[in-house]
Amino acid sequence: MFRVTRQIDFCYGHRLLDYQGKCRHLHGHNGHVVLALADTELDERGMLLDFGEMKQIVHRWIDEEWDHRMILRRDDPAVAALTELGEPLVLIDVNPTAENLARLIFEYAKQRGLPVVEVRLWETPKCSASYCEGASGGWCESGPPRPA
Ligand SMILES: [Zn+2]
Repeated sequence: MFRVTRQIDFCYGHRLLDYQGKCRHLHGHNGHVVLALADTELDERGMLLDFGEMKQIVHRWIDEEWDHRMILRRDDPAVAALTELGEPLVLIDVNPTAENLARLIFEYAKQRGLPVVEVRLWETPKCSASYCEGASGGWCESGPPRPA
C-alpha cells in the first residue's frame, strides 16, 4: 500500500452551539489539514497522485471556500447579524467542530475522485481530529506530526 500526504493551512472562524466551554463564543483558528491518500497501485509516472494535483483540487477548494471565513451551523443565531454586516460565511448542517470539518474535507476529496483515506484537522498545535472510512481497513493512522 502506498500512502501520500499533503498539508494545507487555512484560517477560519467558528463557534460551537449546544456547548458550554470557551468555544461557544465566536473565535478563530489557524487550521492545519493533513490530507492522506492511499492506493495499492501507482500510475505510469510512479506516483499515487501528483502533489500538484492534490494542491489543485483540495487546497484550492479550501482556499476559495473556507479560508478567512466564519464557518457556522446553519441555525446559529449569529448568522443574521453577520450576514447583515456582509461577513463571508460558510453555513453547514452540523456543529463546526474539528471532527465535522475533517469529515467535510474528506467527503469533498472523495467526491472529487481522490483515493482519500484520512483527513486530520489540527485546530491548535496540540489538538486534532481526524475522519476516515473503512476503505483503508477501518483504521485511522495518526499521520505525520504537525511541524513545529
Ligand atoms: Zn474553536
